[in-house]
Order: sequence, then C-alpha cells, then structure tokens
Amino acid sequence: MIQIQLTERQEKIIDIVKYNEPITSEKIAKKLKLARGTLRPDLAILTMSGILDARPKVGYFYTGKTTFSFISEKIESIKVSERKSIPIVVDEEVTVYDGIVTMFLEDVSSIFVTSNGYLTGVVSRKDFLKNVIGGLNLHKTPIAVIMTRMPNIIVTTLDESVLDAAIKIIDHEIDSLPIVEEVEDDEGKKAYKVVGRITKTSITRLFVELGKNE
Ligand code: ADP
Repeated sequence: MIQIQLTERQEKIIDIVKYNEPITSEKIAKKLKLARGTLRPDLAILTMSGILDARPKVGYFYTGKTTFSFISEKIESIKVSERKSIPIVVDEEVTVYDGIVTMFLEDVSSIFVTSNGYLTGVVSRKDFLKNVIGGLNLHKTPIAVIMTRMPNIIVTTLDESVLDAAIKIIDHEIDSLPIVEEVEDDEGKKAYKVVGRITKTSITRLFVELGKNE
C-alpha cells in the first residue's frame, strides 16, 4: 500500500504546480530557489504517488488527487470477495432450539436461513433472545417463524466493494450481510445462493490492517 506522508517542500511543489500548470521542473526549482537536482526525489515521489502527472517536454500537472482520495480509492478497490468468510446456513425447517445451538457452536452473531438451498431469511442473536423471552416453544417452532425474511434481506455480491457493503451494514443497522449469487430457482424465479458472509468484524479487521499499513 502507498503511504503518503508529504514533506513541507512537497506540499509547496504541489501548490506551485496547481497554480502554474503545466510547469517544468526548472521553473519549479526557480520558484523555490533550489537546484533542479534537489527537487528530483520530490518530483519522483509526487508523480509515482499519482498526485502530479509528468508529461515529457510539457511539464508537470496536478491530478487533483489528495491523500484522502488515495485512501478512499484503496478502500473502494477492495472487493467483498477478498474479505468473505464462511457463512453459517441452516434450513428453514430447523427448530429455534437447534438454531441457537448452531449459533453457539459456530460462534457467529447471525445465521442465514435457506429453503431448497435458496436464501429465505436471517436470524440474529436478538431475534433469538426476543423469542426466548416471549416464551416461544423452542423445540417445536421452526426457525422460519422468527427470522427476518426475503425480500427484506440486505445482501451483497462478490464483486461489490467492501465500502459499499459497509455502507449497507451501517445504513440498515445490521451486523452482517450474506454474500449471494443470483440464480433462477426451480420455477425460473430470481433467487439467491449464499456463497459467503461479510461482517462488522471483517470490516474492522480491514480497517486495522489499513491503519497499520499491512
Ligand atoms: P443483533 O440482533 O444481534 O443486534 P443485527 O443487528 O444483525 O444483530 O440484527 C438486527 C435485526 O436485523 C434482526 O432482526 C435481524 O434478523 C435483522 N438482520 C440481520 N442481518 C440482516 C440482513 N442482512 N438483512 C436484513 N435484516 C437483517
């Protein structure tokens, strides 16, 4: 990953190019009262990092990219497929009791529910708690009764950016998204196969990696 920590002189060069583009390295050096050779490493860094664009025989241009746009470009370039984890999936017929056991055994905060292998719902910890407190018969009730169901499930796909997935998680105040592939069910209707999941934890891990510049 590119880490851009600009020096005062590099900031000055950017300002000069911004207001005088296209400008040659000689002219930049003159404005800074420095030898052209002194600026060479700075200009190399600024062009390599994409902040300046160098055109032979014309000079330097400012690309308009800031340090922040590099960070957002980096985040936008990371796809859900690179951050996916294994989804825990149960069938609609499974009892609420078995769903709770699965959640504990698999150590997840939400479970995806399918029917004939197609996504039909999501169950979270709070869904279980609400119903346990409500005195539901855990051994007799199928998980389908308590789940949040399609078409209200917020999904993502392998090629979506992690940023867009994170925005969905924040906007809908949920902990995870099923990663799906759109298919046709047996009746030719649009349906989803669950191929993974992305969670607040996976996104936090990415944030930590970017912060540590790993
Ligand atoms: P918790 O209930 O443990 O806080 P969530 O915040 O993920 O976990 O869930 C809040 C509610 O949103 C629950 O009712 C759950 O069924 C529902 N939910 C969870 N994930 C999704 C999703 N991807 N799409 C739609 N609803 C969801």
